Amino acid sequence: MSSLDSLPVAVIGAGPVGLAAAAHLIARGLPLKLYEAGPTVAANVRDWGHVRLFSPWRYNVDPAAKSLLKAHSWQEPPADAMPTGADLYEAGPSQPTFPHGLGAKRIIPNADQSH
Ligand SMILES: Cc1cc2nc3c(=O)[nH]c(=O)nc-3n(C[C@H](O)[C@H](O)[C@H](O)COP(=O)(O)OP(=O)(O)OC[C@H]3O[C@@H](n4cnc5c(N)ncnc54)[C@H](O)[C@@H]3O)c2cc1C
Repeated sequence: MSSLDSLPVAVIGAGPVGLAAAAHLIARGLPLKLYEAGPTVAANVRDWGHVRLFSPWRYNVDPAAKSLLKAHSWQEPPADAMPTGADLYEAGPSQPTFPHGLGAKRIIPNADQSH
């Protein structure tokens, strides 16, 4: 094991993809830091929160994230229901449930990593 192995994996962006990556890292017991440019996770999705997605819940939650959420008493939305962006933020793998599974201390908001 090299000294690098104990460093956290940096995940840039807490959108759906970054959150899913974080869930997979947690499932593997790997340390991580999740850097998000916006003030909250899913900042981009929240910008169009009033718009309905074109795919139902069953396709919108990563399996690793689902396992984490279920371990924290998450009520899974009906598989065929069509969420809005706001629904995805509020009831999906972001706020308010996901940070508990993810460990809020792993999320660093307002952290633009472009520079
Ligand atoms: C109206 C609409 C409906 C959609 N419906 C569906 C659907 O039904 N099904 C589907 O699969 N997809 C749908 N999509 C697409 C889906 O929203 C995107 O594919 C998804 O959001 C991409 O996730 P992402 O995490 O890669 O990117 P984003 O959601 O863009 O998240 C990236 C995150 O990274 C942050 N970020 C960016 N740059 C930096 C930086 N330099 N440093 C730190 N953080 C940074 C951003 O603030 C953001 O929070 C829809 C999109 C729209 C607009």
